Amino acid sequence: NKRVKIKELLTWEPKDQQVTVMGWVRTFRNNQFIALNDGSTNNNLQVVVELGKFDDELLKRITTSASLKVSGHVIPSLGKGQKLEVRGETIEILGDSDAEKYPLQPKKHSLEFLREIAHLRFRTNTFGSVFRIRHSLAFAIHKFYNEKGFVYMHTPIVTASDAEGAGEMFRVTTLPLDNPPRNEDGSVNFKEDFFGRSSNLTVSGQLEGELGATAFGEIYTFGPTFRAENSNTARHLAEFWMIEPEMAFCDLEDNMNLAEEFIKYIIKYAMEHNREDLEFLAQRLADEEKQLPQDKRSEMGLIEKLEFVVNNSFERITYTEAIDILLQSPAYKKKKFQYDVKWGIDMQSEHERYLVEKHFKKPVIVTNYPKDIKAFYMRQNDDGKTVAAMDILAPGIGEIVGGSQREERLDKLEQRMAEMHIPAEELWWYLDTRRFGTVPHAGFGLGFERIVQFVTGMGNIRDVIAFPRTPKNCEF
Ligand code: ATP
Ligand code: MG
Ligand code: MG
Ligand code: MG
Repeated sequence: NKRVKIKELLTWEPKDQQVTVMGWVRTFRNNQFIALNDGSTNNNLQVVVELGKFDDELLKRITTSASLKVSGHVIPSLGKGQKLEVRGETIEILGDSDAEKYPLQPKKHSLEFLREIAHLRFRTNTFGSVFRIRHSLAFAIHKFYNEKGFVYMHTPIVTASDAEGAGEMFRVTTLPLDNPPRNEDGSVNFKEDFFGRSSNLTVSGQLEGELGATAFGEIYTFGPTFRAENSNTARHLAEFWMIEPEMAFCDLEDNMNLAEEFIKYIIKYAMEHNREDLEFLAQRLADEEKQLPQDKRSEMGLIEKLEFVVNNSFERITYTEAIDILLQSPAYKKKKFQYDVKWGIDMQSEHERYLVEKHFKKPVIVTNYPKDIKAFYMRQNDDGKTVAAMDILAPGIGEIVGGSQREERLDKLEQRMAEMHIPAEELWWYLDTRRFGTVPHAGFGLGFERIVQFVTGMGNIRDVIAFPRTPKNCEF
């Protein structure tokens, strides 16, 4: 009497097989038809309750969200759109559910409402699809790098390094908040802290990843990163997952090629393994767009968009070209941008989205950014103004990847750190890679939730992570 998963069962030919299924009730119609879901697919299994076989007490307990164990025979279904159903011969209630109090009704709920009951939203079709796709993408990431011979490295979550300068850090401390030990000048004495110095949650595993790349040749990390972003946007979380490959003997061009191949590979994997869930989400998006005026609707459906992305090369332009395009755009001339455009700005999401959505209509890789808006470790170009950086911008989101060739020349690196007031003694271990057999190397970071957003078409990053961490939101 082993449990069969509903996804698998629905592929069978009905031949009177005896099965046991377990799951949660989605609906119970006419005291006869149970739509049972076990999370393996959005498709419910129809369980037909034999009339007269069960007492009223039991039937009353078959309510929305009650959990059941059902055994019976698999028979052809007369209903439309389903080839089989299970005759419920024995039904055991595993857990009752008070349908009056259960917040999920068998109707469409708004994503905002579902965020308030994030602990139950996995039981909806939308989140079922999103999280099964998220799982597949995570698996495909490991598969891709494993096939390429990269070593999977675990970089630290708690670290003293704060050199990235990418965002606000979360401090890690065991000092008493009300009365911390103090130095003579009144500042907090972190020498008394757990690690004998101040420490933070990591914002990126890159610096440590470079140590791995300059030993193993090619590594990747895939782990959680933390940024105390104060902004409430649809693409920022305080806790997000990042994939960071780092490659020795690699320049900016190789780096871009790998990133493009990688993104296409994992999208293709999801298209092959999550067809049903993608079709569900595509339909959901199409229904939503029907509410919009014609000119606000997307030109392509979700699946068409993904097919287009895997089958076409990404556009590659320099930062300087990107700024020129923006300056000449109708959006700029009609003052449609909220933030000003000029050479030297850190492009805002509205600028990035203009480039991909309006101008090129495909993903864009922007290279050679001004050095003043990028981190100290990026390789300096000969023009003295730009660095060998590359960001990948995607429709609907903007930046999904940030990467660069790293500065492998010790003198240039030290000089840049001095200009940016980054104390070299704090990063002695990092600089050692340049002292002992330095090599050209490069890498990038792909925000995992951003690619999940892209593949699922979900508009808000909070809807692609199980437990979103955002300002004032950390209950469970
Ligand atoms: P943004 O411009 O969107 O703030 P960033 O340039 O600060 O991103 P990087 O430091 O380049 O981000 O980090 C590499 C990648 O990590 C980004 O391209 C993005 O995909 C992802 N990422 C960065 N910050 C966040 C965040 N707060 N939440 C989710 N993903 C993020
Ligand atoms: Mg940022
Ligand atoms: Mg950015
Ligand atoms: Mg970036």
